[in-house]
Amino acid sequence: MAGIAPQPGIMEIDLYQGGASKVDGVEDVVKLSSNENPFGPSPDAQAAFRASASALHRYPPTDHSGLRLSIAEVHGLDAERIICGVGSDEIIAFLCQAYVGAGDEVIHTEHGFAMYRISTLAAGGTPVEVREAERKTDVDAILNAVTERTRLVFIANPNNPTGTLISDSEVARLAEGLPDHVLLVLDGAYVEFVDGHDGGAALVDSRENVVMTRTFSKLYGLGGLRIGWGYGPRTVIDVLNRIRGPFNLSETQLATAEAAIRDRQYAVWCRNENSRLRNWLAAELEGMGIPSDESHANFILARFADAEKAQAADATLKSHGLIVRNVAGYGLPQALRITIGDEAACRRVAAVLRDFMGEQG
Ligand SMILES: *Cc1c(COP(=O)(O)O)cnc(C)c1O
Repeated sequence: MAGIAPQPGIMEIDLYQGGASKVDGVEDVVKLSSNENPFGPSPDAQAAFRASASALHRYPPTDHSGLRLSIAEVHGLDAERIICGVGSDEIIAFLCQAYVGAGDEVIHTEHGFAMYRISTLAAGGTPVEVREAERKTDVDAILNAVTERTRLVFIANPNNPTGTLISDSEVARLAEGLPDHVLLVLDGAYVEFVDGHDGGAALVDSRENVVMTRTFSKLYGLGGLRIGWGYGPRTVIDVLNRIRGPFNLSETQLATAEAAIRDRQYAVWCRNENSRLRNWLAAELEGMGIPSDESHANFILARFADAEKAQAADATLKSHGLIVRNVAGYGLPQALRITIGDEAACRRVAAVLRDFMGEQG
């Protein structure tokens, strides 16, 4: 069997580490490690999910027109330039598969999302990591890293796991500064948490080299169902549609996502609750001597004095049934990423950390 080998790059992929959800011997566990919506999906989305059960023997539609039209209406976009996928992860994979080959480079930032690297390697390309400036995307550092082999640049805005946001004018400067052969991908997984932010849609509309990805996994509370979408120039969307499986999304996914995005009242309520609780928790932590950057997402990146202290805080939280994300793998060993839970969860996190910091003296 020695002759059977995968394509170059595949064996360099480390398996994606999902957020943990169990602690042995502890009841009343709260999972705050995967940036999930603590309130779950909209009741309308749950009803649509159940209603889809009777038609499971039917193949789903291939063009996703119902969902694309709903997204277009809600966000004021051109439905013809929307593509839907199995999470935004699939849109990221399509982009790499379509535009990246052996020897090509893909830029992502220092603390960027793991899927950029994974999908780049899966396509045979070379991931290029660019440093951030104090946990913020650094446009000049990215522009300096571009070579003639660069094909894609991924930035998440707001970024994960940092929660930081760069301005529209900085994003526009990045798009403007890239050479013709480079496509800029704006990952807007958390943009729904920023009131009034278009995720870069206007920039997509005004340029030929910008694509935006979005997801139903975060604000809409549908991470378990796997639905995302992308918005880009007609030429790019046409390319991606050629490699998209015709039945990549089930009727259940399509109908549930459509109901979720149509329930504006619930989405706005979730966004407001997230902002209120995030601001409260950040201020509480700050008061205990645990700083964080201003977060624009549904998590806080809590910074401790050093890696040892972060690990001790993680262990203490865990022993109290609070599972947060250790982000050492993202180059942030002195920090913990804490998803904003419901009010009771946020209060528990604050209480446990207050005791922890007190004991540390
Ligand atoms: C959660 C997340 C996504 C969303 O992934 P899905 O495949 O849509 O669930 C994309 N990008 C970033 C940065 C994320 O944190």
